Amino acid sequence: MKACVFDGRDVSVNPAYPDPVPPPGEVLVRVRLAGVCQTDLEIARGYMGFRGVLGHEFVGTALGGRHEGRRVVGGINCVCGRCDMCLADVPTHCRWRTTLGIDGRDGAFAERLVLPEANLVPVPDEVSDRAAVFAEPLAAALEIGRQVALNPDMETVLLGDGRLGQLVARVLVAAGLRPMVVGKAPEKLAILEAMGLTTALAADAPREAATDLVIECTGTAEGLGMALEFVRPRGTIVLKSTVADTAGLDLAPLVVNEVTVIGSRCGPMDEAVELLAAGQLDLEPLVTATYLLDEAPRALAAAAEPGAIKVLVEP
Ligand SMILES: [Zn+2]
Ligand SMILES: [Zn+2]
Repeated sequence: MKACVFDGRDVSVNPAYPDPVPPPGEVLVRVRLAGVCQTDLEIARGYMGFRGVLGHEFVGTALGGRHEGRRVVGGINCVCGRCDMCLADVPTHCRWRTTLGIDGRDGAFAERLVLPEANLVPVPDEVSDRAAVFAEPLAAALEIGRQVALNPDMETVLLGDGRLGQLVARVLVAAGLRPMVVGKAPEKLAILEAMGLTTALAADAPREAATDLVIECTGTAEGLGMALEFVRPRGTIVLKSTVADTAGLDLAPLVVNEVTVIGSRCGPMDEAVELLAAGQLDLEPLVTATYLLDEAPRALAAAAEPGAIKVLVEP
């Protein structure tokens, strides 16, 4: 089959990549549409030590199992079911997990992929492929609400106007919050202003250390330092950027101000599909471009452009 592969140095399309064969309990899925995320760009820069087929955001058609013939999205963490984390009902932290297109498992920028049947969530007819492809990052946004008790009275600042920030903003609004969004790109902030949110460019945003909840989706190493300038004493920071770095950052304010920092990653795919099915999210403004799988390396380059939000790949 055709697949977009990272070999440790370069990203290229292999027209004769070996067909995936599902082991027992797993299902072959024909990919209909995939999305490029920050993690894919980091992998393509060699940051995560991954080799193989890139991509983890997708909507496809199940070619076997109990969802055969139906459109599905899929949780990306493939777990053992037996380790202490699995038995404690936090399977996203399975000690032996593999992760679609990220760690130990070929991904979604291909004609077909395999995932455990248990990871697949059927997509209702009313959700288009172009909306369903957002399920995985939307689930990551929903995870915030499982980690922090969100209430509409919270003063909230969202750092980041990109791929994930745009989805987090929508999830917060759906939960009744009105975050101020701090970003870098006026055209991306404009999309959020059209939703009725207040926005500011990072350079101009007032840092008053008065915010109850700061959600960091900058995708940069500097995000935590910036979050510390906004959060109030005893406030909470949710960190979403996997590249977060403390290099040169004084962590004493965390202690002095008794700030809670919560790392946040993957979330509930079924809730994400429910939210998509409710039809309240306007995701179309987030699609920057769609590329054929043959042009996947160009899709990755396009996703790395400063103006890009979500770039899609179509097998
Ligand atoms: Zn992702
Ligand atoms: Zn496990």
